Parts: sequence; C-alpha cells; structure tokens
Amino acid sequence: MEVTSKLQLGRANSLAGRIGNAWWQERHCLRRMPLRQRGSGPPAVWRFCAVKLSLLTVCLAATAPWAETMKPLVDLNLNRSLQNAGTLGGVGELKEYAPGEGPAFCRGVSKWGVSFAASSRGGGSLMTQAGGGVEVPAPGLDGVTQLTLALWFQPLGENSVARLLFFSPGWDLFVSGRQVTFKTKHAGVDTGFSVQGDAKAVVEGAWNFLAVTYDVAAGTATCYHGGPDQPARVVAEWTGVPLPDMGGMVLTVGNLGGIRPFRGLVDEVRVYDQLLTADAVEALRSSTVQARPSLRDYAAHAVPRSLFSHADACFSTRFKRPEAPEAWKSFDTNRLVWVYTNDADYIANAKAAGIESFQSAINSIMRVDDEAAYCRNLEGERVVAPWMVAFDKKNPVYWGCNNQPAYLDKCVESACKALDAGADWIQFDDWSMIVSAYGWGGACFCDRCLAGFREYLQQNLSAEQTKELGIDDLAAFDYKAHLAAKHQLTTDKDYRAQRGKLPLEAHFQQFQRQSVREFFQELRKRLEAHAGRRVPLSVNSTLMHPEQRNNFCADIVDFLLGETWQPDFTKTVICTKVADALGKWQVFSPIPRDLQDTRRATAAAYALGHLPLVPWDIYMGSDATGIQPRYFGKPEEYGDLYRFVKDNAELLNGYETPASVGVVVNTDKYDAGAIAAVCSRLLENHVPFAFALAGHSSYDSSLTAEQLKGFDTVIRVNPPDDFTPADRAALEAAAEEAIVLSPRELTPASLEPLSLLRYWGPNDLVFLPRMQTDGTTNRLLLHVLNLNQNPTDKSPVPVKWTSLLLRLPAMLGPDLT
Ligand SMILES: [Zn+2]
Repeated sequence: MEVTSKLQLGRANSLAGRIGNAWWQERHCLRRMPLRQRGSGPPAVWRFCAVKLSLLTVCLAATAPWAETMKPLVDLNLNRSLQNAGTLGGVGELKEYAPGEGPAFCRGVSKWGVSFAASSRGGGSLMTQAGGGVEVPAPGLDGVTQLTLALWFQPLGENSVARLLFFSPGWDLFVSGRQVTFKTKHAGVDTGFSVQGDAKAVVEGAWNFLAVTYDVAAGTATCYHGGPDQPARVVAEWTGVPLPDMGGMVLTVGNLGGIRPFRGLVDEVRVYDQLLTADAVEALRSSTVQARPSLRDYAAHAVPRSLFSHADACFSTRFKRPEAPEAWKSFDTNRLVWVYTNDADYIANAKAAGIESFQSAINSIMRVDDEAAYCRNLEGERVVAPWMVAFDKKNPVYWGCNNQPAYLDKCVESACKALDAGADWIQFDDWSMIVSAYGWGGACFCDRCLAGFREYLQQNLSAEQTKELGIDDLAAFDYKAHLAAKHQLTTDKDYRAQRGKLPLEAHFQQFQRQSVREFFQELRKRLEAHAGRRVPLSVNSTLMHPEQRNNFCADIVDFLLGETWQPDFTKTVICTKVADALGKWQVFSPIPRDLQDTRRATAAAYALGHLPLVPWDIYMGSDATGIQPRYFGKPEEYGDLYRFVKDNAELLNGYETPASVGVVVNTDKYDAGAIAAVCSRLLENHVPFAFALAGHSSYDSSLTAEQLKGFDTVIRVNPPDDFTPADRAALEAAAEEAIVLSPRELTPASLEPLSLLRYWGPNDLVFLPRMQTDGTTNRLLLHVLNLNQNPTDKSPVPVKWTSLLLRLPAMLGPDLT
C-alpha cells in the first residue's frame, strides 16, 4: 500500500546490514568520480509578445552548445528504442496494463520519447489496471548506496499519485498535481517525502525536468526541478529518509503495478549510482533538452531564387492595348509579363516608364504556313481545342505538334523577334502541347509522332515486353497501323472510347511527355544561342497538382505563370511549397469570378512568398459557342493590396520562409488528399513547414539525407515502398537525426512542440513566418493573413481581441536580445 506520510526510522540498525558488503563499498567508491562538464545550455524563457495583427519583427540570436554528463547505470533516451545505454545494459519493454492504454513512442524533449497519453487515468486510487509502463530489467540498482534519479516528463490532464519511476520494493517517484514525492519502503513500510508549498513546481502540459539525489547512508535526499528554458533548482531537501528494502529487479517507468499510471510523456530517464552535484544536475538537464536549430537556420536552407523580388507587382496586357500603360502605372507595376508583342517601341517605352523586365509570349496555336506543323488525330485531321473553337471559326486555330520541326522553327522565330525587340523573358501558353491534345483531341498521330514513339519503344522496351505488348516487329512499328491491325481501331471516336484499355497507351503518354520536354530543351537552347544569354522561360501552369505526370517540365522552366481559379487556401499553400522546393517562382494569373475571393488569393500569394498577377486583361473562359468578355480589375478594387506590398517592400524582399518540418511529397505517387490533410493540420497548429520532393518519372528530384536532416521533423506521407531505394536510404539516414513521422502520428502531442506560436482568436487567421537568409538582421517577420469572411458577401471580417504567444526560445533559439 502507498503511504505518503513521513516516518522516522532508526538509521544505525538499518545501515548495519549493508556496511559489510564489500562489493557495495567498491562500487560506491568507483562511482564517486567527478562529473565532467563542457558548458551548459543557456537559460531561456518563453517570451510573451503582444502583437498587432500586421507585419511584425522580433529579435533573436544564436544557440549555444550543450553539456554532457557521465555514464549512468540506466540511460533510456527512448529514441524509438528501449535499449538501456547505461552501464547496466539490457533492453526495456513497453507494457500495456489495460487494453488500448499502452505506451507509444512520440516526440520527446529530445528527439523521441514515450507517450503514456492513452492511459484512462493519471494515478487515482482505484485498484484496477490502467495505462502502460516501460519495464527495464535493472537488478544492478538493488542496494546502491548513492542514487541520482532524473527524467523529463510532461503531465497531460490530471495526475494524482501517478508513478514516474518505481523500483520495487525499495523506492519510487510520483507526481500529484504540481507536487512531486519521493518514497522509500523500509521493512515493508512506506515513507514519502514531498515537495511542499510554493516549491511545488510541476507544470501540466509542459516538459518538466526532475532529479532526486539520494544519499542512502546519510538518509538525505535533494529534489531538483527545471524546464526546457528553466535551469534546474533545488525544490526540496529531505533528511531521515529510511533505507530502501532490497530485492529489486525491475525499474518501471510510468506506472506502479499497473494501477498508478502516469498520463503524459516521458523522456531521457537516467539513474546514476552517485550523487550528482547541482552543477551536474543542471548539466544533465541542459544536455538532455534537445538543441534544436533555430528558424533562422531553417531559413538559410531556402532554395535561392532569382528573377523576381517578393514585393514585385506583375501586370499583363495580352497585347499592346493603348490603355494598358495607364492601368499598369495605377497598380505600381514594375514587371510586365505575358504580352504577345515584338514591338520594339512599345517595349522601350515601357522600360523608359520604369518597367524592370518585359516578358513576351508564344503558344501552341501559332499560324504556320506548313500544314505539317500541326497535331493530327487518328484519322489524320488537324485538331482544335474545344475552348478555342469560337476563337476563329472561319480560319480555325489548329494545335501545333511539338514534334514537328516546322512548329519549333515558328516558335523560335517568333520568340527571337520579341527578344530582338527588347523582351527579356518568354512565356509559353498551352505548354503541354501534344499531351494536352491527347486529352481532348485524340492526338497526335502525325508522321513525326509515330516515328518518335517507335524510337521511344525501341529504347525502353525489352524483347520480352515487346512480345507481351503484341508488337511483332519493333523496327517497323507504326502505332496507327498497330491499332488498326490488332485492335480494329481506325476512327478517332472508337480510339478515344477504347484507349483507356489499350496496353500501349501508358507508354504512348510517357513518350508524349518526354517529347514535350525535349521540345522545351531545344527551344531554350536555340533562344539562348540567338540571344547570347540565358532567356528566362515560363509556362502557363501552376503547381497545384505537382505530380510529375502533370507538371513534367517544372525543372526546365525558370518560373511558372499559370492561370488559376481561386482555389482553397490549402491548395495555394501546396502550390507555393512545391515551388519553394523546386526553387521556382509561382506567379498566379487569377481568373476573377469574385472580387473578394480574388483579393484574398492576391493577399495569400504575397503572404506565401510568391506573386499574383494584377487582375487585368484576364481571359474568363470560352467554349464552342463564344468567348466570355475579358476582365479588367480596377485600382479601387485591388490597388490597396499592391500598395501594402510596395509600402512594406523592405519587409518582404530578401526574406524567405523558414521551416522546421519537412513534408516529403512523392510526386510520382502523389496522394493529394493525404498531403492536403497534413498541410491543414500543420497550418492549424502554426507549424512552419516546407516540402521535400521525391520523384523520377519525368525528371530527377531526389531526396538527400543532408536536405532531410535540415529539418527537426520529417513527415513521410507515403509508405516506404513507394520510394526508390536511394530515396528510402536518404529517409533512413535522416531518421538518425530528425524525427520521422507518418501522418497518423501527427497527434496533438507530436504537433505541440513544433508549433511556432499559440493563438487565441477567430479561426482562419494564418501566421506565416519569414526570415532573412543572409543573417544580416535578427528579425523574424510574421505575415498575418486574415481569411475570415462574411458568409453573405464574402467581405473580410475584421479580427479583434486576439492573443498571440510567440514561442521564441522553442523555435528561434534561446538567446534573445
Ligand atoms: Zn505529332
């Protein structure tokens, strides 16, 4: 039974039985060596920052190295392992005393720890089994004359008489609310010693460091308490502690006999057979709380990008409209993009008026005299995109084939004229060429595509595969003839109806993607040969769907300038995080269906470190019957957003998004739902994150251990088998330093330590941190995005009465100025 009252026992008698134990004496002396110490972590505290909901800056400084201590008897770092790294050795065991209430590994105070959060109660007086425990064989602890017990624990909810450590029958350590008690059992009678009064220091829901030094012979004990940011201090000194009974075999962490479960988290359990000095206790505390990189370290890992700055205002007039200059000036525009012109005067005038870069454009529907330049369906007909039928009914806008030299020549000629006229960059619209035409037009079966597909198969199929796919003679292979002979498909209609089941279609599509890649590589080469410089190239695409099968040229282009409806915020986040990981800019060309949605998307793009296009001269859709009127936004509708960015340019330019968490995104086996769910959880919990991309089907995007180790925590959405052996090896190597979690492990307990801040107020307020990568200032920029809207007219709802707790030491390093 448990007794927590003090009992006075005769010391002399109790000691007598032990004095004669020579083995005991020898051990005692050997372990009295002084502790080595190499410096301790600096103290730090949580800082409260009352902030206005606007751009704000905070100062911070670097972290310091950690201390180390001597070898203990028991050393459980609990890094997904129950190995006792102390001198006693051995392996512990996770015990589930009540079904479903067992312990599990979780984020600890240093890397991994053990969670007992599933326990149905914390302590209590019931005699029924509850919770779990970690049982460690430790007969070598029995009879030790000097003891130091130390651990980190985080109580979750109520814990009353809940066991932290239990070494039956001799001694145990338990928590009751804010109070800690150390207890010994002597001659079958329990005597407890508690921390009293104001010294009761246990903080619920936070990591607590606890150490008890116990001089068995003297009957004295000292209790220390500390936290991640508080040095260990003495909270109680006890005398007359009775000698513990002998016979102990097992050290239990987190329970007593399965009936006094601790509910919460435990990490870094140590037991020494010596009395640690106060300095040594503090050294142990500071060395076991993990020295995590600061957000500034993470910001320094941002992939550098060129061309744009964060405060740029980008404007497009699709052709040289006379009213355009006045409009772009009214939005403080500094970059013109996606303009179909090669008029040298127009470009020169724009630059004279302060435009820093001018981007001309080409596309998939340019007029070419040579009819061979165009895509063909199975019946040999040229194809028109369904949304372009109304563009010109008399003279249809046929779709070009990227495998036709005449089409490439036309693209090069047109772009070179623009470059000669002073254009700096080139945009390519409808960039996916035959991949797109395949989708809606059943193309392309032109002579070049048929020859190209034959070559592709010759290079990629084994003899066995060739036979399996029903190809008789690969040297003479013609897919059109093959479809007729083997599948009786000769019409476009029949082919499109049945192609989903055809064995060669996956290869056909992959050939098409590769050929579009080759087209852009060749286009780039020829433009640069002409211009004698790098010619930045963009395509009309967004990374909302980052799969390599969709965005198969993302590595070739310099940035993406893509039309988009206003998606939900999470999709915009995914898009920009993919762009960040690729080191590309995402410029959004909005399709404004709603003023407030477009304003919100504009603000979001800037807050996420990317760029929105001014909503002016915007294509609003078309079909076979007609074209929607183009959209021209007005300065009174959007001008304030662009002014805000210009006014805060010095807080935007030169800053990048830091990320302590890396989400591994497999762009070959992309799980859109799972990625969106993970992003939502991280956003809700104010966890700054970045993506690490793994994909190889169109271009090589490999994981590296170095890249992943730069994160505190890595979230692996796909199962290991979804990765290539090299990517898997990088993940395994990273797991030696970073925490690697699956989405189902994103529990409140695992997310809490990763959170940059705590926020009380309306939902849909997003805090996006940015920092300078060159370390010239110690400023953290927190970009606050208010997504709250009035349900009737979607107008923004002002946010009042909010509180923000910025966890500076946890995320930004402990030494603040
Ligand atoms: Zn073709």
